[in-house]
Amino acid sequence: MLQKALVGAYIVKQQLTGNRRYPLALMLEPLFRCNLACNGCGKIDYPDEILNQRLSLEECLGAVDECGAPVVSIAGGEPLLHRDMPAIVRGIIARRKFVYLCTNALLMEKKLDDYQPSPFFVWSVHLDGDEEMHDRSVCQEGVYTRAVAAIAAAKARGFRVNINCTLFNDAKPEQVAAFFDSTKALGIDGITVSPGYAYERAPDQQHFLNREKTKQLFRDVLARGRKGKDWSFSQSSLFLDFLAGNQTYHCTPWGNPARTVFGWQRPCYLLGEGYTKTFRELMDTTDWDAYGTGNYEKCADCMVHSGYEATAVNDTVLHPLKAMKVALRGVRTEGAMAPDLPVDKQRPAQYTFTQHVEIKLADIKRAKQVQEVAVETQ
Ligand code: SF4
Repeated sequence: MLQKALVGAYIVKQQLTGNRRYPLALMLEPLFRCNLACNGCGKIDYPDEILNQRLSLEECLGAVDECGAPVVSIAGGEPLLHRDMPAIVRGIIARRKFVYLCTNALLMEKKLDDYQPSPFFVWSVHLDGDEEMHDRSVCQEGVYTRAVAAIAAAKARGFRVNINCTLFNDAKPEQVAAFFDSTKALGIDGITVSPGYAYERAPDQQHFLNREKTKQLFRDVLARGRKGKDWSFSQSSLFLDFLAGNQTYHCTPWGNPARTVFGWQRPCYLLGEGYTKTFRELMDTTDWDAYGTGNYEKCADCMVHSGYEATAVNDTVLHPLKAMKVALRGVRTEGAMAPDLPVDKQRPAQYTFTQHVEIKLADIKRAKQVQEVAVETQ
């Protein structure tokens, strides 16, 4: 309730001041290094020099202040590998921002003592389904069991714990529904669910969902849980309605801006098509109309929360009755779907990954040389 009230007040303030583009959740990625190597991950395919980079405590808190979003989602990589993570979390909470600390939970139980329960703090544990689904998704046996043990330990200490679940095209609706049912016994406070984004650098390109399959999958899953009302989602009802094909939404990538070791990422958390030094520069110099479904080939199949949750939240503020109806009646899982955005005029994909990696490697080399010269002259 506190989160809804504070985030709601923030949105109303933005609307009243006529701010058309504002951030809702900062995606903070203080490192790319991870202790897993999942098939669907597009974040860890970097040379070691880049995987060894970390955003400092000052850089993380500076990004939070610059951006001003009321919610901060700390992702990666695996955030618990960052030695200053407890101080980063404390610093964000001190600013009365809501922190979602995303983790694969392999280190979570061991590190629980470093954190304190707070209404501003949520563990967001990566769990892509039941034991079979999740261990297949993360390419390692035993990860589900460890994650569930860590969730139980965190709940026993009074923490809020969510799960973030990514679905791929091999997801079986009845299995996903049974998994969502099982989250009640685990004491999970909220579920964040999203279709996997087809990262161009992900090792497995075969299992990403296209829009048509995404909508049908979500209808088939939600229909098994009283149109979604059986489960406690930590997402807006209209975003779920969008996933089930009942809303035609344009993406609002500025709603979830991403700050990584490269800088502020253009245009969104999923695509690294350029970087800026400051948040203001990102907002002012990004050609936002060049992105989104219908505008750009790499966006054609995207229905991910980091692009569309902010759209749904804005729609909720503008049309509260529509949102309330979906929340009370559940998501419609039958009948005609809303028209999708045409993609016949989208611009072709550009592949800039290597160029950005080369620029970053040159930066790292330069910084190292400067450091060496400074040591020599001391
Ligand atoms: S549709 Fe939006 S969120 Fe999705 S990849 Fe494109 S710009 Fe990013």
